[in-house]
Amino acid sequence: MAFWPNVIVATPAHSGMGHTLTYRSELSLTPGSLVRVPLGTREVLGVVWDCGDQPPEGLSQAQTKAVASVLEGLPALNGRWLQLVRFASQYYQRGLGEVALAALPPQLRELDGVQLARRLKKRAKQASPDPKASRSPAVADREAAPALPDGQSPAENPPLTQTLSAEQAEALASLEHATAPILLHGATGSGKTEVYLQTTRRALDTVSPDGVLTQVLVMVPEINLTPQLEARFRERFEPLYGAGAVVCLHSGMTPAQRLASWLSAHTGGARIVLGTRMAIFASLPGLRLIVVDEEHDPSYKSQEGARYSARDLAVYRAKIETDALAASGQRCQVILGSATPSLESWHAADLGRYLRLAMPGRIGGGALPRLRLIDMNNQPKGAVVAPPLLAAMAERIQRGEQCLVLLNRRGYAPVLACHDCGWKSGCPHCSAYRVFHKLDRTLRCHHCGFTERVPRACPDCGNLDIAPVGRGTEQLEEQLAALLADVRRPDGQPPRVARMDADTTRLKGSLESQLAALHSGEVDVLVGTQMIAKGHDFRRITLVAGLNADSALFASDYRAPERLFALLMQAGGRAGRDAAFMGAQGGASEMWIQTWYPDHPLFATLKLHDYPGFATEQLHEREIAGMPPYGAQALLRADARTQAAAQAFLNLAAEQAIGLPHRDDITLYPAVPLTIQRVANVERAQMLVESGSRAALQRFLAAWQPVLHAARSAPEARGLVRWAVDVDPLAI
Ligand code: ADP
Ligand code: ZN
Ligand code: ZN
Repeated sequence: MAFWPNVIVATPAHSGMGHTLTYRSELSLTPGSLVRVPLGTREVLGVVWDCGDQPPEGLSQAQTKAVASVLEGLPALNGRWLQLVRFASQYYQRGLGEVALAALPPQLRELDGVQLARRLKKRAKQASPDPKASRSPAVADREAAPALPDGQSPAENPPLTQTLSAEQAEALASLEHATAPILLHGATGSGKTEVYLQTTRRALDTVSPDGVLTQVLVMVPEINLTPQLEARFRERFEPLYGAGAVVCLHSGMTPAQRLASWLSAHTGGARIVLGTRMAIFASLPGLRLIVVDEEHDPSYKSQEGARYSARDLAVYRAKIETDALAASGQRCQVILGSATPSLESWHAADLGRYLRLAMPGRIGGGALPRLRLIDMNNQPKGAVVAPPLLAAMAERIQRGEQCLVLLNRRGYAPVLACHDCGWKSGCPHCSAYRVFHKLDRTLRCHHCGFTERVPRACPDCGNLDIAPVGRGTEQLEEQLAALLADVRRPDGQPPRVARMDADTTRLKGSLESQLAALHSGEVDVLVGTQMIAKGHDFRRITLVAGLNADSALFASDYRAPERLFALLMQAGGRAGRDAAFMGAQGGASEMWIQTWYPDHPLFATLKLHDYPGFATEQLHEREIAGMPPYGAQALLRADARTQAAAQAFLNLAAEQAIGLPHRDDITLYPAVPLTIQRVANVERAQMLVESGSRAALQRFLAAWQPVLHAARSAPEARGLVRWAVDVDPLAI
């Protein structure tokens, strides 16, 4: 007797949606089983989609290739996982095989059955019996616990049990019975982490009807940025559930580490998976809670392959899990947490689709920082840091407090220029300038990476006097150190200025050690890009300054105000977090902003820390304009050797969309070049696709796919390198 499994394999992007390949097998295979199958001349990993006992029409036994092997010892991926992958593939308009296989750890693709069995056996042997850790006879799975990140002195971590603030207690009580997705709108420093921890505890203590150990997925925007969160989860749960109870999943891990974490989650050994957006696809058979921390963060949206939003998939995933649990009365909750929620989530809460829980106060009753606007029109010409801000910083340093200075531009200067002939440090491969990095005297393109030594003289006219224009964090660090050189800390030492950005944190462990220097008080002033504004629980920062907010005030992207408001509010949220420290210091925390437009309405709302007011205002504007979340958008993007070819492809796609289902409900905008039109010698263009109805947009996009495939090989589109659809794009 033979069986006919339909198997998902990694097929090249766009090779058609929902496609599986039919193989032959001696055994009936459970959907979700991992198999190795022949594909062309290779043997590849596949996932069984379903399995019939009749040969598909037109196929005979002889014509069908046999499954090479089944990865035995690995439980099958469950139906909810398959459903998640199918949804992501359909919604984001990518191949099922591409999405499914990209969701599995890369190393799994390379192992054959024998190698995997050896791996699993080794892991089982390492497992030590720990009665506390396994309450049901699932696989006991242990891993060595990584050490806590540096800088986590015990004093900085809360005790194992916290007395909850009234707001925390209330949020937890509401959470207990909530059936809708939860939007936890908690001010910066309101103690959202503790709510996550206690909800996690509750979920892990649930006894599953099928005896599977329950699990929790905690997602963070960038894991390296939040070593504290990881430390808190380990500290809280490893004593309860064993050393292997918390595993991480992110792209900074080695393939072997990723496989180990994945296996541990899949077999139930890991109770908590802490990860970045990719973790949304982890196999978690006992999933009962998904936490999306800083849910507004753009890094939850993938910018390559299937351009999925891990936040949106989290909401969907929780729903699938809950539906499957319906009979047992249990459910899988999802908590989206932020001090500055995305307008999409805010709107969903307005409509009652999400349950909004507010924690407006800070732990210990501390105040949010007071906003101080500096009108740059009234400051000395060319002042980098306005004198009043500099004086305020000096005062803080003298009192033993710390300052954070935000500048969203790394490097020394964004451009190097010759004032004689007008030469500028353009990138030969991109329509962008190369940034001057003084430390290693290079000109670096932040788009394609092209790097050269700084020329001694102007390459065009030989003038020796080429000079930096504008300012980046590297220069600001240097200037602040000079400007503050005469100030003294309480210990009589001159202040220490440090910098934290993508350049200083490239090496493994460097970010942790820089954060540790700040936590320990070694550093007085930290200069950095938005990376310093994210999620950190600093204790002695009392002043935060934003130096170049203006560029975002008038940006053309309709999401720019939302992003700027969130960034400034989050940055300000790093100040004055420790009520006891603030009380002892006897002052208030402050957020300073240098601007040429102090009367801009955004600042008035920011001053009041009025996120709800801001959100209502923005949503009103979007409603009038039919923008998301009131309308739905997608982008068709094209990369080509010439701009003409890129646009020709888009125009052809638009012309041939005539007559497609829902075409009348769709607006196709003209093809336009991207703001940075050329990157690494590739010309980029895009077309905005908009509809008042998400469902109509979805159906149209699905019907458009074959047209796009065909347009690709049209003579007009010769020179096209690649194309992609981006559903719910974050930037247009
Ligand atoms: P945020 O809401 O900004 O994420 P955190 O979760 O980082 O805030 O909490 C801010 C600080 O308050 C942390 O240092 C945390 O340890 C502390 N904290 C949280 N809850 C309590 C509590 N109930 N009692 C005392 N301290 C708390
Ligand atoms: Zn010149
Ligand atoms: Zn470049």
